[in-house]
Amino acid sequence: MPHLSHDDIKQFDLQLRLGRQTLLGAIRNRLHQGDGPGEMALANPYADVREQAEADLLADTDIGQLQRELADLQAIDEALARLSAGSYGTCTGCGGRIAVRRLRAQPAARMCLSCQENFEQHRQAPP
Ligand SMILES: [Zn+2]
Repeated sequence: MPHLSHDDIKQFDLQLRLGRQTLLGAIRNRLHQGDGPGEMALANPYADVREQAEADLLADTDIGQLQRELADLQAIDEALARLSAGSYGTCTGCGGRIAVRRLRAQPAARMCLSCQENFEQHRQAPP
């Protein structure tokens, strides 16, 4: 039996879509203020957003922020895809259930808390 009720799913779907609208508005505003780099980022918004941000764009706060927003947008799109595929709420790391409380706080979460913590420790480790 799935751990999310039909109402939960409906609620998360709504939250994700609203979050997506808000993000898209923020990204659009940002791109309209900016010049070159913004357009470059938009040309391929999903290409290695994190690596790119860390490599050469982190110094520019605006672009760093844009990259984060694009990464958030991607996470939301992925969550919506999981919702329609019926795999929403399942951890992509260990295949376990993501706590409903965690999803309420962060509807785009793709991993359970312990997988997320492992992931972040790994990512923040020095090269
Ligand atoms: Zn997990």
